[in-house]
Amino acid sequence: MKGTSAATVALPYDAVVVGAGHNGLVAAVILARAGWKVVVVEANDRPGGALMSGEVTRPGYVHDLFATNLNLFVGSPFYAEFGDDLARHGLRLRTSDFPYANVFPGGKSIGVSVGLEATLERLRQLSPGDAQGWQQLNDLYQRMAGTLFGVYASPVPSYGMAKVMAGAARTLRRKGLADLAQLLSSSCRELVDTYLVSDEAKALIACWGLHLDLGPDVSGGAVFPFLEAFSDMAVGMSVAEGGASRLVDALCGLLSEYGGELRTGVAVERILVAEGRAVGVELADGERLQAARAVVANVSPTALVGSLLAPGDLPVRDTKALERYAYGPATMMIHLALSKPVPWEAGEELQRYAYVHVAPYVDDLARTYTDALAGRLPAEPLLVVGQTSSVDPTRAPGEGQVLWIQVRTLPTRIGDDPAGSLGGKSWDEAAEPFADRVMAKLERYAPGLGAVVLDRTVLSPADLERQNRNLVGGDSITGSMHLRQNFAFRPAPGMARYRTAIGDLVLVGAGTWPGPGLNAQSGYLAARDLLVRARWRGALGPGRRR
Ligand SMILES: Cc1cc2nc3c(=O)[nH]c(=O)nc-3n(C[C@H](O)[C@H](O)[C@H](O)COP(=O)(O)OP(=O)(O)OC[C@H]3O[C@@H](n4cnc5c(N)ncnc54)[C@H](O)[C@@H]3O)c2cc1C
Repeated sequence: MKGTSAATVALPYDAVVVGAGHNGLVAAVILARAGWKVVVVEANDRPGGALMSGEVTRPGYVHDLFATNLNLFVGSPFYAEFGDDLARHGLRLRTSDFPYANVFPGGKSIGVSVGLEATLERLRQLSPGDAQGWQQLNDLYQRMAGTLFGVYASPVPSYGMAKVMAGAARTLRRKGLADLAQLLSSSCRELVDTYLVSDEAKALIACWGLHLDLGPDVSGGAVFPFLEAFSDMAVGMSVAEGGASRLVDALCGLLSEYGGELRTGVAVERILVAEGRAVGVELADGERLQAARAVVANVSPTALVGSLLAPGDLPVRDTKALERYAYGPATMMIHLALSKPVPWEAGEELQRYAYVHVAPYVDDLARTYTDALAGRLPAEPLLVVGQTSSVDPTRAPGEGQVLWIQVRTLPTRIGDDPAGSLGGKSWDEAAEPFADRVMAKLERYAPGLGAVVLDRTVLSPADLERQNRNLVGGDSITGSMHLRQNFAFRPAPGMARYRTAIGDLVLVGAGTWPGPGLNAQSGYLAARDLLVRARWRGALGPGRRR
């Protein structure tokens, strides 16, 4: 046992989960329900990782600090199985039938609401060709969604995924499969140029790409924005009533009901490996926790190999592959407390949309994305404006509003600043002046916004990483989602099934398939895999240590 003395190992858990992100908590709930003795160890004082709310501007104003849109979670197999239990533990959803809109110069806007006809009507006013193209894209979505969401919910590669593809071959036939292959390989610009006419309608879909790191010209970048744009039109957008942490509280409540433990405010420093198997963890305060059956690491792939494992624990090939794992551009969050709703130039009707994208056009997205990769601060930051109060009015008192502004995509390190004087500064120095630039942009689309701002809190890329070490460099998605690091290549070729070359050590979280977002998938699939393997071991007889 490398550096591990059995005498210092204290509590015999079945599983130790490193990190209380939602995937870690989901894995812990599933294992604990199966009777395993589970502990989740979280470095932060509060669980949830990138899912957390707080009154960060003024008392009574509850902001989702990071993730807010719960659609992926609500659509997950985990929620299908545990939704009622989470409700018992206090989770309530608030859903908007007006999921997203885009604004453009000159007071123009276009919004998508639940139901095809209402959206088509708005698009017809832009151009009849846009309405026709949107209808065709919606038809494509209806044909492809079952297959694409089926793959999304399966381990890759797996028998389950093969079954989904076999079903697709039967229903889609050769032409449909060719359409699917073309969709999977297209860039977003290629997709929207094929179907839509106006620059405004094209931006409506393309803006979703930059929620990940899918600039409009990235190959394979069409699928996510396509799915998000049309699934939101089908179901609207949901947030947790009272704040994102209510979902975390419900997960922790369920864990505790099943006898699981949560320890916060202490980091795991090392994963202990003996004879090729993970046997426990060592905490920052020196305490060691024994894991008789598994260690589940809800950590970034580079942290796993860079600090938690000792050199030589993993085979050289896997070590090198994980060291090469690539992160995407950074994100900044600006939280505003407002005395009134946003005074959009495009009109009050925009106030009811959950998200308003302020980019504005596909070429702007392409420029912003290239700037970020080249280390340039964008002159025109891409903004996702979350009008959380319009979805969940409980978040602020009286007429007050909370506004969630996600600034995508930014350089991890600031090289040049062609539009200003922030070149070469650290994010700690540049955060507030850059937030002023963001506010100035927003003011052009919502004149008078400044006058209704009561307070603001800025979280720079550096703050994001300080808050959650998985957000490396402030990358909100914990690793690029380009094709070379997606599907069976996430986090690295041969490592997409959560298992590692170290026995009983599994890696979950945004850095593993199916990637970032509140999809609860990796925690769910990895925990179920552990249970299946434990049953097999039981069937094959004793031999597992306790
Ligand atoms: C600003 C922002 C906005 C987003 N918006 C959305 C959205 O609206 N909808 C959506 O679906 N997704 C959104 N996302 C993405 C989504 O929130 C994340 O992909 C998701 O929460 C990742 O979950 P996870 O389980 O991988 O772990 P994380 O949430 O990354 O949590 C990991 C946890 O592990 C802990 N940890 C790591 N290492 C250790 C260690 N050694 N010891 C102890 N603890 C450790 C960390 O402190 C952290 O709490 C957003 C992300 C960000 C940052």
